[in-house]
Formats: sequence, C-alpha cells, structure tokens
Amino acid sequence: MTSKYDALVVGAGISGCAIASAFARQGRHVLVVERSLRELDRIVGELLQPGGVAALFQLELAHCLRGIEATPAERRVGRSFHHGRFVSNLRAAVSSQPGVTLLEATALELLRDDRTGAVVGAACVRSGGIPEKYYASLTVLADGASSNLRSRYARDRPTARSHFWGLEMLDADLPHPRYAYGILGVGSPVLMYQISARETRILIDIPNEVYCQLGTRKSVRDYIRQRIVPTVPPSVQPSLRQAIKSGRLRSMPNSQMPSTRNKTPGLVIPGDASNMRHPVTGAGMTVALKDAALLAELLSPARVPSLADIQVLREMRRFHWQRKAYSASPNILAQALYLLFVSEDPALIIMQQGFIRYVQEGEQNFAEPAWITGGLVDDPLRLFYHFFKIAIYSIRFQLQQIVWLKLPAALFQSVLLFGSAIAIVWRPITDELQL
Ligand SMILES: Cc1cc2nc3c(=O)[nH]c(=O)nc-3n(C[C@H](O)[C@H](O)[C@H](O)COP(=O)(O)OP(=O)(O)OC[C@H]3O[C@@H](n4cnc5c(N)ncnc54)[C@H](O)[C@@H]3O)c2cc1C
Repeated sequence: MTSKYDALVVGAGISGCAIASAFARQGRHVLVVERSLRELDRIVGELLQPGGVAALFQLELAHCLRGIEATPAERRVGRSFHHGRFVSNLRAAVSSQPGVTLLEATALELLRDDRTGAVVGAACVRSGGIPEKYYASLTVLADGASSNLRSRYARDRPTARSHFWGLEMLDADLPHPRYAYGILGVGSPVLMYQISARETRILIDIPNEVYCQLGTRKSVRDYIRQRIVPTVPPSVQPSLRQAIKSGRLRSMPNSQMPSTRNKTPGLVIPGDASNMRHPVTGAGMTVALKDAALLAELLSPARVPSLADIQVLREMRRFHWQRKAYSASPNILAQALYLLFVSEDPALIIMQQGFIRYVQEGEQNFAEPAWITGGLVDDPLRLFYHFFKIAIYSIRFQLQQIVWLKLPAALFQSVLLFGSAIAIVWRPITDELQL
C-alpha cells in the first residue's frame, strides 16, 4: 500500500502529537505512526514547566491537562501528572482532528529518493503484518530519546553518565504540597513532585559507576534507604520507606545529546530525537513543545505553501538556530547544575554551598533563576549572569570565613573555583555553538 501525505510523523509522544496537531490545524494532511497506542507507563516527563504549559496554550492543546489529576506545581503555573495519561490525552486530541490519521505501527526505516537523497516517507509494520511504505512530502522524526532511526542524520550519539531511579510514594506528607522539590547538595540529586492527588514521584540520580558497585536492584533499594531517606523532609520519610519496601523501582538513562543541524531534504527532527539534556531541571517536554510551536510557525502555509518545497530545507536552517533561543538555556543549565552538584572537587563544593545560600537569600536572588528553570526566561545571558554571580558570591563568602593567615590559600582556592565554574559551562556552551 502506498499513500501520500503532507507530513508523516514518526512517534506520537510529546513532540509528535504537538507537531501533528499544529500541522493539521494549518490544513495539512498528516499521518502519525506510533508503535504502541496503549497508555504509556514511564517514569519520564511527569513535570511540565510553566514555559511548557504556555507552549501548550499556544498550540491550543492546554485542554489535554484536564481530567488527569494534573497537579499545579512551581508557583501553581507548571503541572505534574502521570506521563502516560497526558500523552493519551494528546493522542486523543490529535486523532480527533480533521486531516490526521493515527496508525499503530512501527517505523522500520526512512525511505529515501535515490536521486536526490531526500527522505520521502517511511516503511512501517503493523503488529503481525508485513512492512508497508508510506510517502509524505515531509517526514518528522519524533521518535524520542531511544530513536533507532536518527543515527544516519545526527552527528552525535546520546551519552548517559547516570540513571534516574524512580519510586512512587503513596500519601506522602509533603511540607508544601503542590510544589516540586529538588534536593541538591547531599550527593545524588533527588527530584520529588506529586503526580496525582495521592501519588508522589521520587527520582534519584545514581551515577553509572555507583550502580556498577551496587550491582543489584536490592542494593539500589538499600542505597536509597541508607543514603537518600535521611535527606528528604522527615514527614516524607515513612512513605519513602514504604515505597522502598514494596514499590516498583524503575530506572531510565539520563541521556544528553547536542543538536545537529538537519541537512537532509524532506526531514525534520524535533524533541528528544534531536537534542537531550540531563532531566534534573525537567525541561525536555517544554523544549519539545516549543519545537512544535516554532516548526508550525516556520512551516506555516503562508511561508511554505507545500511541504515538498525546497524552501523547507532553508527553514530547517532557521529552525536549528532559532530553537537555541529557548533550548540553549535549559541545555546549559541542566548540564551545569548536574555537574556542579555531583562534583567532589573541593572548589565546586564551596560553590554548591554558595549556590544554596544565594537562592536562600530571598526573592531577589531566587525569582529569575526559577523563571529560567521554568522555561519562562530563555535568555542565556541571564543564566550566565546568575551563574557567575553565584561563583563570585561563593568566593566572597569563603573569604569572609577565613583567618588572615590562610588568605593566600583561600585566594588560590578562589581562582580554582572560578576556573572550575568556567569548565562546567564550557562544554555545554560549545555544544550549542556547533554548526
Ligand atoms: C528519567 C527522566 C525523567 C524526565 N522527566 C522529565 C520531566 O519531569 N519533565 C520534562 O519536561 N521532561 C522530562 N524528561 C524528558 C522528557 O521525557 C522528554 O524530553 C520528552 O518525552 C520528549 O518528547 P519526544 O516527543 O521527543 O519523545 P517521546 O515522548 O519519547 O515520544 C517518542 C514516541 O515515539 C514512539 N516511537 C519510538 N520509535 C518509534 C518507531 N520506530 N515507530 C513508531 N513509533 C516510535 C514512542 O513509542 C513514543 O511514543 C525526563 C527524561 C528522563 C530520562
């Protein structure tokens, strides 16, 4: 069977659904291919930052937050929920739109025109069926973090230094219900947020080398009991102990991958398939939704009447650079925050303490970093401003604590601190500047 659509979207996850919906609203015919339409049961994508909620409104998909017990989080503007319920709502919204066909099938390979090299569709297989070819003017590869179709088109491979290990706590007594918690500065970063009225997710970052030493799931449970339980608020500890004893313990790699500019005609790669950052700041869905909004703008019928037009490739160049406006800050922030808080470098430990004191000093220090994390302020220069202000604040704080005799050593330590601060943002900055 062969078909011709304006767009073929591989993957009905966050970005695939959002893009398919936006294209359909613009009058395009869209085929969405998803390998499983069952409700997803994953420990990823459960906290949607305020910037992501704003993008959902822009995409006219905010109603997908209804009916899933989405808990207001982050100053009551972000939302946390069961990922699978949210994605099921997105899929239902997309499949009900005129012009969209949602097909349960696995994309096996992308089809290319031998002469031009352009991607012209995908070979897909339904359960128990034989492979069929589907053709479209534009193929959107939105198959997420574990994409096995992107390798030909991406310069980099995903790398993961750690995994998030997740448990679900029942009736956890959170000191501030409806707020998301990040527990930093006590070894493994820990995230905690309600995903329904009674359930609270806890995610614990365990570096790969630590897991190699632990070796078994039982040892991971012991590690969480001994190392993590004392770091969470006392009122939460009974629920966490219970979850360790009888809850489902699951893990996901914390992958990161810089984005590559797509130069293949007929192809677009948004969301996790093209770019990932450590999930410590919960930014992935926000970036994926903003990708969808930007693509809808760049490829709108007013600019690009036909998605078969070569103009699409020019717009892809714009897409690569314009998405930096909202992806660079979360990418750099997530990598820098993670490296800062897992570091055992004495200079960076001083900066960890400085960071915590800095944000505790009040609204004037806390507000803008929270907006940057929440995807509401995207300007990387504001991120660098706060990052280096914290480095200088940490140095000043350290110098105030020491006796005069130790001043030369402290000054030397300060130089090291500043150097280490530059080192942890350097790599993510150079990743962002890659052509
Ligand atoms: C541990 C962890 C926690 C996270 N927590 C958060 C968080 O709290 N907040 C946040 O914003 N982000 C979080 N993220 C990141 C977030 O999950 C992703 O950024 C987001 O899901 C990316 O959306 P996507 O559409 O690109 O990919 P996905 O949502 O993964 O969608 C990909 C879709 O493609 C389908 N698919 C794959 N291959 C094929 C194929 N060959 N054929 C057909 N279909 C296919 C899959 O079934 C899936 O439905 C987390 C990530 C991790 C690892």
